Amino acid sequence: MLQRSRVESADASLCEAASPFERVQERIGAICEPMNIDEGIQARLRKCERELVVNFPIRMDDGKVKIFTGFRIQHNDTRGPAKGGIRYHPDVTLDETRALAVWMTLKAAVVNIPYGGAKGGVICDPKIMSQGELERLTRRYASEISILIGPEKDIPAPDVGTNPQIMAWIMDTYSMNKGYSVLGVVTGKPLEIGGSKGRFEATGRGCMLSAGLAANHLGMGLKEATVAVQGFGNVGMAAAKLLAKEGCRIIAVSDSRGGIYNPKGLDPESVLRHKTETGLVVGFQDSETVTNAELLELQCDILVPAALEDEICKANAPNIKAKLIIEGANGPTTAEADEILGDRGITVIPDVLANAGGVIVSYFEWVQGIQSFFWDEADVNEKLQYIMTKAFEEVMSISQHEKVDMRTAAYMLAIGRIAKAITLRGIYP
Ligand code: GLU
Repeated sequence: MLQRSRVESADASLCEAASPFERVQERIGAICEPMNIDEGIQARLRKCERELVVNFPIRMDDGKVKIFTGFRIQHNDTRGPAKGGIRYHPDVTLDETRALAVWMTLKAAVVNIPYGGAKGGVICDPKIMSQGELERLTRRYASEISILIGPEKDIPAPDVGTNPQIMAWIMDTYSMNKGYSVLGVVTGKPLEIGGSKGRFEATGRGCMLSAGLAANHLGMGLKEATVAVQGFGNVGMAAAKLLAKEGCRIIAVSDSRGGIYNPKGLDPESVLRHKTETGLVVGFQDSETVTNAELLELQCDILVPAALEDEICKANAPNIKAKLIIEGANGPTTAEADEILGDRGITVIPDVLANAGGVIVSYFEWVQGIQSFFWDEADVNEKLQYIMTKAFEEVMSISQHEKVDMRTAAYMLAIGRIAKAITLRGIYP
């Protein structure tokens, strides 16, 4: 489970930034202008279509009642049902959820899967809640947002602080109210109840694939490349494991409580065993302890920020030594940092492309559930690779042709597709 690293590493608080939603709105505006996107379409993209705030009671294990606040936001559903994860974290806000919903719309459009974007979240700390409390919270939250979700309209999935078990409870709650099992209401489910093979590590696999494609373009390849991974949750751990399989040397990994460093390389599987036993990565044999902030500035070829937003900002961007950044997290780099990294010749593969593997395999899971026809893992991985490679090449071609960085190119590709869909559908009534 990924946690906000800045809670523990005081120096990273330099990156504390203003409203992520305002910043994504600004970025959209800056990209739409030179593309001559119609003003009405720009205005639509800057707003979220539907926003639901819910305050609901949960009986805690000590018998007391606690009120929790949750959100479900649908940013845009022009290209298909709204799609996006649910985050359980103490720092969840309405503003952050809006930004995350916009990124989902863009992500689905970059990789050209038939979805719009949504996001949900509950302000809570799943790390200190019992399984019973988490189940009651999840079932009540799922009931509260059931006026929005459904297999044809809005399909949640895991995000920071949530997992397949939580998806199982959402699927069960929704199904109980319908009177029959609805597999397509949520993705990232356990395999036994309609999950997809390959979904659990899909986001990490997408990171590995984009790292490979980017490394080839940079003429460096993955063999012997040194890698630092911030965040050892679902995304960071799978990315580290799969990159190591490709021949990379994982020199550092971290979780919310700090990081470990060994220039000779760390074995991600052994680090995972250590984390499962002790609850942290720190303390792993033959490793030096580093802070999350230090990890970002280590000498390495590839940096994978796979924790939370705004970790790379104007305060630390000048000190980053990696040649390539693969954004496993959503929004880990601020706009100011992007400029600094660009000037310094560091290539950033943006979140909406690099971490799209998760939602791509979510799409496969949804299709499999609707058809009740399940695929082999090899099929899933092959189709994922096909979509990731195609999207990467399309973004790279815009980047080279328009002489813009990969994020701007990805946004241009996505906004072009969404604007076309909006134009074709027209305005109702
Ligand atoms: N939470 C993941 C993301 O940010 C997955 C979303 C999904 O599969 O719908 O991309």
